[in-house]
Amino acid sequence: MNVFWHRRDLRPDDNRGLARAAAADESVVPLFVLDPTVLDHASPVRVATLLEALEDLRSQYRDRGSDLLVVRGEASAAVPEVAAEYDATTVVWNEDYSGLARERDRAVRAALEDEGIAAESLHDAIHHEPGSITPNQGDHYSVFSYFWKKWRDRDKREPAVEPDADDLAAVSGEPIPTLSDLGFDEPEATPPTVTTAAARERVADFCSGPIYDYADRRDYPAESGTSRLSPQLKWGTIGPRELYAATERAAERAESDDDRESVREFQRQLAWREFYAHVLAFNPETVTEDFSGYENDIEWHDDPDALAAWQAGETGCPIVDAGMRQLQAEGWMHNRVRMLVASFLTKDLLLDWRAGYDWFRRKLADHDTANDVGGWQWAASTGTDAQPYFRVFNPMKQGREYDPDAEYIREYVPEFADASPAEIHGWHELSDAERKRIAPDYPAPIVDHAARREQAIAMFERARDDS
Ligand code: FAD
Repeated sequence: MNVFWHRRDLRPDDNRGLARAAAADESVVPLFVLDPTVLDHASPVRVATLLEALEDLRSQYRDRGSDLLVVRGEASAAVPEVAAEYDATTVVWNEDYSGLARERDRAVRAALEDEGIAAESLHDAIHHEPGSITPNQGDHYSVFSYFWKKWRDRDKREPAVEPDADDLAAVSGEPIPTLSDLGFDEPEATPPTVTTAAARERVADFCSGPIYDYADRRDYPAESGTSRLSPQLKWGTIGPRELYAATERAAERAESDDDRESVREFQRQLAWREFYAHVLAFNPETVTEDFSGYENDIEWHDDPDALAAWQAGETGCPIVDAGMRQLQAEGWMHNRVRMLVASFLTKDLLLDWRAGYDWFRRKLADHDTANDVGGWQWAASTGTDAQPYFRVFNPMKQGREYDPDAEYIREYVPEFADASPAEIHGWHELSDAERKRIAPDYPAPIVDHAARREQAIAMFERARDDS
């Protein structure tokens, strides 16, 4: 017997580790461990998506005459225990790149070795493993464009072979715990459906049309211009090779250069995901520390009321509040708006990016340490290849540009039901009397953008100044 330990790869198909475990002429016992690294800090919405993905994975194994074993406990105890119970010779898993996950995996490997059980891990979640895309000189984590060109031109693997019934052990698992068994309340947000079937349907729909408009439409939050695959990629209900192959087929069907370029643009976003995985693998400390290493500490403000207003979507900046309320309602937020709310927290409220990251980590169904830290440090101008500190988004202008009819804002900020786009985008310029008349329950701006922009730039210049 071999045990295959699932973690963020909740699918039997296009799964390199599982294919390796099954290729060894041994029956495979599929396992998932609900351990503290999975459950700590998780929000109900994220655990709900995990449990749904686990039920889906289980049913895919049951269709193949096997089952998914789901056990609770520390992985370093639970994995060897299951391996010993099934007399396994090897436990196989796919690499996870955060510092915490790697620490856990080292402990599991050591515990298995103590029991005389072999451990093997493969690279699966990304196409090219950390360290495999390096320049001849210099720091390859400072420039995404370099990474992208290399990543784009490198051959990609075919989807991994799927196991069939003969490869899998005829095991039978206990029921998967429910949210309340795990001590979580029902989510306030409506979780996205995270199953392999839903992921495949999304990929098929997206690659049959919207992918060709992606480059033009991806920045407009009122439109369904993006793939919404992030929760699926987070839990691995679809394999990266299967997804990439679908995009390549879309490129072959493209009817114009613009269509082909748009597919490329989508692939470029997939490469950002891989870039941040590489950055995190080699710089695990960036989960809590600035990547950029300014000379002096940045003097972030300490303002609990401002943080609470940002979290609640009550800052008086309409596009920011719409985004924060979308996060609360759906456990997801559009990328352009993530950039704006992160910029607003750090450059308008002058609050530490870690406070924003912490909120996102709790609220996002697609929370992925590498992407989340990468996105926050990009917006805070503390990251690698980040937004320069002197280029501060003007959230009102951005709202006007990317949500011109204020459709997105009105969807999440019902106080504006009767307001015109001009009134919404000009909210900061109105008098108190006008604001009272137009949307009496919506707050006035809690900060003045122009003044805060100056303060933010001065704050970063002090942090850079080594004299
Ligand atoms: P699409 O535009 O359809 O892109 C397809 C896929 O490419 C995404 O699902 C994602 O896997 C990847 N991708 C796209 N943009 C980025 C990016 N900028 N960085 C890394 N990968 C990207 N993404 C997460 O998956 N998890 C997070 O926790 C997360 N936190 C973020 C926090 C901040 C402050 C910012 C600015 C961005 C964050 N992102 C995060 C990146 C991005 O916002 C989401 O991946 C994207 O909005 C997901 O929607 P989609 O699947 O429709 O994206």
